[in-house]
Amino acid sequence: QAPLLEVRGLETAFTIEGSDYNAVDNVSFSVKPGQVLGVVGESGCGKSVMSLSIMQLLPKGIGKIKNGEIIFDGDEIQNYSPKRMNKIRGKDIGMIFQEPMTSLNPVFTIGFQLEEVLHNHFKLTKREAREKSVALLTAVGIPRPDKIVDEYPHQLSGGMRQRVMIAMAIACQPKLLIADEPTTALDVTVQAQILELLQDVQSKNDMAIILITHDLGVVSESCDEVIVMYAGKIVERTEVRKLFTEPLHPYTELLIGAVPKMNESIEVLDSIEGIVPSLSNMPKVGCRFAGRCPKAMAECTEITPQLAENTEGHEVACLLYETSRPQERVVR
Ligand code: SF4
Ligand code: MG
Repeated sequence: QAPLLEVRGLETAFTIEGSDYNAVDNVSFSVKPGQVLGVVGESGCGKSVMSLSIMQLLPKGIGKIKNGEIIFDGDEIQNYSPKRMNKIRGKDIGMIFQEPMTSLNPVFTIGFQLEEVLHNHFKLTKREAREKSVALLTAVGIPRPDKIVDEYPHQLSGGMRQRVMIAMAIACQPKLLIADEPTTALDVTVQAQILELLQDVQSKNDMAIILITHDLGVVSESCDEVIVMYAGKIVERTEVRKLFTEPLHPYTELLIGAVPKMNESIEVLDSIEGIVPSLSNMPKVGCRFAGRCPKAMAECTEITPQLAENTEGHEVACLLYETSRPQERVVR
């Protein structure tokens, strides 16, 4: 099956005081139609920058795609004009973010904002748009949708606002939904409801999802395949079950070890010692995790591990595995 989205060798640079630093460094992956791909890692690992690159929503004058190809539904979209990209965003690729309050406009009603999305992409009468909006709110489990359409974002709870965001994101039945920390701002019970809703709309619409999260619990519940990112690079990729039963990368092992017991809602990743190196302090050679890795070896700061298949369907970038060693370094 041809991938719906294919990202090849993506490099996204941020300009800081006149120098370029790669926030996303040579990232390649693909998403099949209907697949749910999890992207995990601490904040600052490049997850959001990666998704903003796909959507061409990088901050102007600061972030730019330096290299690579983004192929969506058979078309190379990384060089699309803003106008052309506008047509894809919202229609073919939907998005939801962590804090719905910042993506919803506080001065317009929920109904107005939903109708606007619909009018942007379809020819509908006012009345049709209104009916469709109510239907969408119903689909995302909002009670009394005919009343909620006339309310303003601040009148809703965080969970309800996130449901509205999902309604807006699926309004045009996109083939791909990018959800960046969609449940992070919500309490645990509401988180579970929103994830359930996402799975529900995913299967009903046969939509692919890229689910970006720092929370491995979220991934285990919802994803087919997982990418683990560290400091702008993919360090491990495999199907979700294998990630939990046979993690290969020391970073993944730590992430899994840091998953709290049931019902503990602590910020799990804070418990791994150290921090992700900042962009301007990124080591040029060697493994970017070396400074925090409990299994680091002397050579880890000298040889850059390559992401490569270790066992079937399981890729890792770590020098503990022969497959990650650059070819030319293999001495016979
Ligand atoms: Fe740790 Fe070395 Fe593997 Fe990096 S390459 S994760 S430092 S063992
Ligand atoms: Mg982020």
